[in-house]
Amino acid sequence: MRWDREVDVLVFGAGMGGMCAALFAAHEGLDVLLCEKTEQVGGTTSTSAGTVWIPGSAQAKRDGVPDSIDDARRFLEAEIGTRALGVREAFLEAGPAALDYLDVRTEVKFRAPPRHPDYHSNQPGRALAGRALAPLPFDGRLLGKDFARVRPPIAPFMVLGGMMVGKDDIPILLKPFASLKAFTAAARLLLRHATDRLRYRRGTRLVMGNALVGRLFYSLRARDVPIAFDARLVELVKGADHVDGAVVDIGDKRQTIRARRGVILATGGFAPSEKLRAEFMRALPVAHSNAFAGASGDGFQAARAAGAAVDDRHTSPAFYFPSSLHKDTVYPHILLDRAKPGLIAVNSDGRRFVNESDSYHDFVEGMLRANAATPSVPAWLVCDRSFIRDYGIGLVHPGAGRRQIERYVADGYLKRAETLMELAQLIGVDGKTLLRTVQEHNAFAEAGVDDAFGKGGTEYNQFNGDPANKPNPCLRPIVEPPYFAVAVYPSTMGTCVGLSTDGDARVLDPDGRAVGGLYAVGNDMASLFRGIYVGPGITLGPALVFAYRAVMRIKNG
Ligand SMILES: Cc1cc2nc3c(=O)[nH]c(=O)nc-3n(C[C@H](O)[C@H](O)[C@H](O)COP(=O)(O)OP(=O)(O)OC[C@H]3O[C@@H](n4cnc5c(N)ncnc54)[C@H](O)[C@@H]3O)c2cc1C
Repeated sequence: MRWDREVDVLVFGAGMGGMCAALFAAHEGLDVLLCEKTEQVGGTTSTSAGTVWIPGSAQAKRDGVPDSIDDARRFLEAEIGTRALGVREAFLEAGPAALDYLDVRTEVKFRAPPRHPDYHSNQPGRALAGRALAPLPFDGRLLGKDFARVRPPIAPFMVLGGMMVGKDDIPILLKPFASLKAFTAAARLLLRHATDRLRYRRGTRLVMGNALVGRLFYSLRARDVPIAFDARLVELVKGADHVDGAVVDIGDKRQTIRARRGVILATGGFAPSEKLRAEFMRALPVAHSNAFAGASGDGFQAARAAGAAVDDRHTSPAFYFPSSLHKDTVYPHILLDRAKPGLIAVNSDGRRFVNESDSYHDFVEGMLRANAATPSVPAWLVCDRSFIRDYGIGLVHPGAGRRQIERYVADGYLKRAETLMELAQLIGVDGKTLLRTVQEHNAFAEAGVDDAFGKGGTEYNQFNGDPANKPNPCLRPIVEPPYFAVAVYPSTMGTCVGLSTDGDARVLDPDGRAVGGLYAVGNDMASLFRGIYVGPGITLGPALVFAYRAVMRIKNG
C-alpha cells in the first residue's frame, strides 16, 4: 500500500464524537487528523440542546446537585435490565473522569442546572438534577474568522435574524418589564445582538449545542489540531484483520491516509438516510429527520464493508421527536408546547392516545403504538387562543399577534376554527368525538388529575409544565375560541442501531472479536440505552465518554 500521509489517529466527522476524540487524542500527545466532509464543524451536535447525561460528576457536586453512580446504575437496571451491561459499566465508570479531563485542560465546560429530571422520573434511582449537564454559553467572537465554520442552529431556534435563545432567556424576553432584573438582562441580550449584527451574519452569543461546538472547536484550535474540511471518508483500508487507514476524498483529490494507532468513526449515524431507515426501521411510518443531512451513514457503511457487526437489538431503532412540517423545516416539539396546560394531542379518531407531557420520544412511541390500531400519523396538537397567547405552538411564538397567526393559517401550518366541530372538519376527524375528548380533558383539568393518560403526573411532566398553573401545571381547560391545531409526524433525531462495540468503543465483528484499529463513537456506535430514552443528553453524553475511552485505549494499548 502506498500511503499519501501517515498519522497516529485518523478521526472522521467533526460533531460531538469526532471533535471530542480529536481533542483527547491531541492532549494525549498523539498525532491526529480530524476529517470533516463539509466546510463546517458541528453536524447535528450544533443544532442540539447540547445536554450531556453523565452520572456522578464533580460538576454536579460543585453546583449543589450531587448525583450518585450507584443510583444511576439502579435506574438503568430498572429501565433497560441487563442489556448492554459491559458497555454501560464502562460508560458509568469513565464518565466523571472524561468530564474532568476536558474541564481541566480545555474550554469544554459544563454546569449542572438546578433541575433537569430524568424522563422516567418515577423509576428507582432516577435523578431530578445533577445527571444532565449543560454546556456553558460561548462567545463566538473568540473564534475570529473561524466563527463562520460553526454550523448554525436551525432558523426557528433563533430570533431577530440570528439571535440564539436558551431556555432561561425565554421568560426574560417574553416579559422584559416583569422586574428590573428581567429588563436589564433583556436589554443586555438585545444590545449585544445589535452590536453583533454590525459585524457578523448572526449573533455570536452561543448557547446549547452551538456553544458546545464552539467550545470544542476553540479548544481544538488552541491545541493546533489539524482539521481537514471537505474531507470525506470513502472507504477503510483493511488488512487481514486490522484497519490500517482509509481512502479519503479531500477537495477533488483522493488520498490514502495511514493510521498507525487507530481510526475513529464519528460520522453521526444514519438518521436522515432513507435507504438505511428502510433497512433498519422497516414498516415504521417515520419519513422525516431532524438530524443533519450529512450524517447519512458513511462511517456505518464503511465499517460494515470492512466486516463490522451491526447491533440492532434495541427496543426502538431510533430516537424520535414529534415534528411539525413547514416548507423545508422539520420543527421538533421538544418542550415548549406539548407539556403546557391547555393542549391535547388527538389521532384521526379525535381521541387522545398519549400523555402529551411525556418526553418527545415517548410521545412518538405512543403515536406509533396507537397507529397500529387507528391512523395516528399525523397526530394533531389541539389548543385554544389563550394557549397560543401564553405558550405558542410549534413555530407560532408565545404572544403571537394577528399577523403571525394569519401567516401560518394562510400557508396551512396552523388550522383555525371558531368551534371545535369546525376544527374537527378542517383536520378530518369526527366532530362529536373531538368535542367529547375536549370536554373530558376539561373535566380532568378542573380536577387537576388526568385519569386517562396522567398528563402532569410525574416530576418530569411538571418540569416542562407551567408552575404558575394550579393545581396541575400541565392541565387547563381548552375553552377560548378560536381553536387551533398543528399536525405532528414522527421524525428521527438520531439512530440507536449502530456498530457493535465493546466498552472501549472498539468495533466488533459478528463473532464478537475486535476489528483491529477500528473504533466508533457518537451515533456510529450502537446506543447503550437500547432504544429507551432515559433522560436528557443520552447521545451526547456517551459520545463524549466513549471518545475518551477510545483514545485511552489507543494510547495505552
Ligand atoms: C433539535 C435536536 C436537539 C438535540 N438535543 C440533544 C441534547 O440536548 N442532548 C443529546 O444528547 N442529544 C441531542 N440531540 C441528538 C444529538 O444532537 C445527536 O445524537 C449527536 O449530535 C450526534 O453526534 P455525532 O458526533 O454522532 O454526529 P454529528 O454531530 O451529526 O456529527 C457527524 C459529523 O460527521 C460528518 N461526516 C459524515 N459523513 C462523513 C464522512 N464520510 N467523512 C467525514 N465526515 C463525515 C458530518 O458532516 C458531521 O459533521 C438533539 C438532536 C436534535 C436534532
